[in-house]
Amino acid sequence: MIEQTHRCIFCGNITIDGIQLRGRLICSECEQELINTQVDEPAYQSYKQGIKAIWKEAITLDSRLNE
Ligand SMILES: [Zn+2]
Repeated sequence: MIEQTHRCIFCGNITIDGIQLRGRLICSECEQELINTQVDEPAYQSYKQGIKAIWKEAITLDSRLNE
């Protein structure tokens, strides 16, 4: 089994653990922070924007593949 390392798109840490979206990785630390961040905290907005950007990209790729 080949262990692939990835760089977290939020904190830049290299990790093998985390959520992967289309090859983009969010490390477990950032995942926890995202989950634990309250909606009214400024940090939440930047996390949300990051997720949204990836999501948008993933959806775009999907629609291209389905054509
Ligand atoms: Zn991270």
